Amino acid sequence: MNKQKAVIGLEMHCEMTSNSKVFSNARNSYNEIANDNVVAIDMGFPGTLPTLNKECVRKAILMSRVLNCEIPEYFYFDRKNYYYPDLPKGYQITQMHNPIGINGKVIIDCGDYEKEVFIHDIHLEEDSASLDHYSDATLIDYNRSGVPLLELVTEPCLNSADEAVAFLEEMRRIYQYCDVSEADTKKGQIRCDVNVSIMDEESNVLGTKVEIKNVNSFANVKETINYEIKRQTELKKIGRYNEVEQETRRFDEETGTTIRMRGKVDAIDYKYFVEPNLPKYKITPEYIESIEKDIPMLPRERKLKYTKEYGLSMHDANIIIKNKDYADYFEECINVGINPKISSNWLMTNIVSYLRSNDINIKEFYLKPMYLKQIIDKIDDNTISSKQAKEIFNESIEKNVEPKSLISNNNQLSDKKVIEEIIINILNNNIKQIEEYKNGKTNLFDFFVGQVMKETRGRANPVITKEILKDKLDG
Ligand code: ADP
Ligand code: MG
Repeated sequence: MNKQKAVIGLEMHCEMTSNSKVFSNARNSYNEIANDNVVAIDMGFPGTLPTLNKECVRKAILMSRVLNCEIPEYFYFDRKNYYYPDLPKGYQITQMHNPIGINGKVIIDCGDYEKEVFIHDIHLEEDSASLDHYSDATLIDYNRSGVPLLELVTEPCLNSADEAVAFLEEMRRIYQYCDVSEADTKKGQIRCDVNVSIMDEESNVLGTKVEIKNVNSFANVKETINYEIKRQTELKKIGRYNEVEQETRRFDEETGTTIRMRGKVDAIDYKYFVEPNLPKYKITPEYIESIEKDIPMLPRERKLKYTKEYGLSMHDANIIIKNKDYADYFEECINVGINPKISSNWLMTNIVSYLRSNDINIKEFYLKPMYLKQIIDKIDDNTISSKQAKEIFNESIEKNVEPKSLISNNNQLSDKKVIEEIIINILNNNIKQIEEYKNGKTNLFDFFVGQVMKETRGRANPVITKEILKDKLDG
């Protein structure tokens, strides 16, 4: 058998944030009470008509531009007809013929290399209700009915599970940076259909794709793809590739395998037609321009800036941009005048570990960058040691008190006379060590510093201490 390569295309559905739903004025927000965010339009009651939510259009166009898509002059919606209990209207309003963006591309970071991923299209549609399965019944919750969804369809251009996950992670970050979606997989806000095929490496004919529906976490996307590549490759190896057919499968979490659901349903089965209850919408270049102004600096651009301009390592920059709130905090540190590397060190060590162990969001974190600066300034002018800085950091968060006031109250010992007396005393008691020091055992210097700190319980100003010690020992 010739060497094989995997080909993957993704259909990524992402729930958008907005005040109201995409075609009705029901709230679009998480709600623990079932069927509470629902109006008649979401239920498809006769006599009701959809109204398009402008906020959703704006966000969809913004994403379309971020992905470098072409935007049509006019866009409209289509009806995708099918019956399912979570779809009370019997159809979904979606975009099939004239989506809000086509032919885009996005660059993703695959660890050792970057890759350009081609976007077939991005379109705006509505989510279905959700079904809650119990042992003796299934309940329908219509809160999700009509929640705005953006569906992103890639070309079949990804070649491994890792590339697919890198793409999804980059997209999740972009959605979050652009405030288009919370993109939280745990809340079911991202769901993927994963298309997998294999082909001869030398060939330019794509293999038969299998679609795995509704995979709900990135870990499962990875497992699904790896399982499917293995399954298809084995079939090919033993001469049974003809058994791979265009079909829809699902991922089974318990066994880590994929299971056949049905043969492939074609577009024609959905009897798409133009949604007659909504007009055609014109998108003017001025409107697109006004939206482009709102595109924030994206994670990849930020990473380049952090490494090139601020001199951070790729590793550190990657950690910071992973979370937009971290990146914002970091940039605020620089705005208030903290050195970038010092900002990044504090963020990634003291701050992140504090946030993690206390389960606090950095947005709610008491120690704002301007407060952090008060601590850093005092290290810089040698008022406090880095050990004291850490203590003040902790105390400040604990008491919600500005570091400044803690530092001025802090009884650091900076009186040269007092320190000198302590040093003379210590030297008198350590004649042997002085001799060893003078004979070349210079690392004993730290021993003397340590003695002073011990004597003063860490309060002695380290710079003054070292100055006097040097003078006494070397002078
Ligand atoms: P369909 O008409 O079955 O919906 P599309 O051509 O619209 O198929 O593609 C749907 C998804 O399947 C896209 O994400 C696309 O990249 C992917 N895809 C298409 N052909 C293949 C293939 N041979 N192998 C893997 N993925 C594929
Ligand atoms: Mg399709």
